[in-house]
Amino acid sequence: MEELFNSYFLSEGGIYRSESTQIKEIIELANIIIRRVRTQYPLLPEIYFNIIDNNTFNAKAALDVKNGNIYYIGVYAGLINILFDVFTKTNIVRELDLNEEVKLSITSTKSTLEFDHSKGFSESISNVDIIALDRYRLIFEFLIYHEICHILRGHIAFKQSKKISELQGNFKEYSDLNINFIQTLEMDADSFATSWVIGDFRRFTLKTELTENTIYKNWETFIPNFAYSIYTTIRIFGFSSLPISKIKTFTHPEPAIRISLIMSNIATILDALNVDNIDDIMSNSIHMLKRAETDVVSVTFLDDQLENVKDVYFNPEYIKYYKQVLHNWNIIRDELQSYAFGELPGKNFLTF
Ligand SMILES: [Zn+2]
Repeated sequence: MEELFNSYFLSEGGIYRSESTQIKEIIELANIIIRRVRTQYPLLPEIYFNIIDNNTFNAKAALDVKNGNIYYIGVYAGLINILFDVFTKTNIVRELDLNEEVKLSITSTKSTLEFDHSKGFSESISNVDIIALDRYRLIFEFLIYHEICHILRGHIAFKQSKKISELQGNFKEYSDLNINFIQTLEMDADSFATSWVIGDFRRFTLKTELTENTIYKNWETFIPNFAYSIYTTIRIFGFSSLPISKIKTFTHPEPAIRISLIMSNIATILDALNVDNIDDIMSNSIHMLKRAETDVVSVTFLDDQLENVKDVYFNPEYIKYYKQVLHNWNIIRDELQSYAFGELPGKNFLTF
């Protein structure tokens, strides 16, 4: 399997063979999560997970048709390194005098973000507290669930059955056929990942006594930190103040939209679980988004883009656009079901 994975991803760098504990932990976590999803969805096919030797910021699920339909999930080493760098350095910066420069070890071009090994990780790694490591681990859980969803819910096979033009449309209008189905699939994957991460917290960690100084203490500590992790990660992809006509060509929904949809999804889940103090938890989470923005800005050369998130809630063009992306679920749901390895949620599940 290792060799097949290596040759499948060879042009992107091939398999990343590493003895580091950090890498091993991620592989182990992924395998635990895959098994966990399989307990609920026994038809989930075998998935081989590993790391790709590439310093850019990416992760992908793929179907290797040539070798008998094997599913892979590959996480780029760059994603692991950059996220580790982000979560540890943002944590350190808050402890330091802000005049002291601690920037991320990245180089970026217009389309890629790359981890720069020559700049290295933070020197004062021993100062990193458990909260930062919790947030870092949590985002990997989210990302692994996200990628599994692409396989479980038939996204990959569905995409392979279509031409790119059939998925992206030509974006001339907001008609059903001209809208980006790929973004709808991404939203589905975000929604799946969000419910599993919250479900795992409720099932496994909430009642243990080992959670005192961690983000897992209670709903009030967990949800805002989850929001922080999500925001930081999506933010690192970069916010851009692009015209609405441009965002329709993205593969993933525009970051500000993506974050606001995840936030509203979280609120819906908490509501369904009858969690107490949802209003307080959500307002603390919004506060954490602001803190995440400040933190990211402090370790990069990016400008504060929080206004962009607010804009999503009030700009009618955005609202019209993302409602359509959500509505697309109703259009593709039945066809997608034929590729899925379990029952898909019903129509209107992505609307709110
Ligand atoms: Zn995705």
